[in-house]
Amino acid sequence: MNKIVILFLVMAALSVGAQEKASDETGVKNKSAKKAEVANALADTKQYNKDQILTLVRVGDVSKKDLSNAKAWIEKSMYPPITVNEKKLKYSKKFEDKSVLFAELNKMKKDNLAIVALVSETPSGVSISNSVNVVGSAGIVYVTPYMTKYAKENPQLELYKWRVNKEALKASALAMGMEKCPFPRCCLSPDYDDARIDSKGRNLCPPCWKKNYQFLISKGIKEPIPPHIKKAMEEKKMKKSAVLSDK
Ligand SMILES: [Zn+2]
Repeated sequence: MNKIVILFLVMAALSVGAQEKASDETGVKNKSAKKAEVANALADTKQYNKDQILTLVRVGDVSKKDLSNAKAWIEKSMYPPITVNEKKLKYSKKFEDKSVLFAELNKMKKDNLAIVALVSETPSGVSISNSVNVVGSAGIVYVTPYMTKYAKENPQLELYKWRVNKEALKASALAMGMEKCPFPRCCLSPDYDDARIDSKGRNLCPPCWKKNYQFLISKGIKEPIPPHIKKAMEEKKMKKSAVLSDK
């Protein structure tokens, strides 16, 4: 068993234990204190170098909310978590030529890990099936094709939001060196039409997730371990060494 699998088993076992313990305890206070502890541990890991940061750019009329939703989703889906930097770029007619937009994005990227732009203006010939374009460590996601008539008429389904989130995650992973995935449920699978984009998963499939995880670790992005899990791991280690010294 490799280290990742062992860590997950430990985390899963401990979280079950923590839940049982929390239900035994009476006050709400304990739960919220535990939540704050975990949040602090995650905040500690936000010490990123420039080359560990993904930049997300909105180009044209993409709303702040669309970008922040995508940011939250990417940060949540990538583990260890990455930090996303938000920027805005004014739309220019010359961006109709994709290579001009890519050149502009590469300038903005500087030393960052990768850059992905959510773009409102759609050049002719762009539909859902080819809305994601990635060259090297830069990606373009044309979001307007996601607002289909069906998506507009059924706002409760939040189709537009999830299409943007999924494709922003896909473009980010591809810009970090991942490849498209043949597994139809994987977020990195190709989109042939609007039915596919909605039926595929919101996350990376396990093999893609593992590949991406190893890439992020190789970039030196730290893995957060919540304090209560870290403490339990240390106690387990101490118990083990006590057993060994008894022999
Ligand atoms: Zn996959």
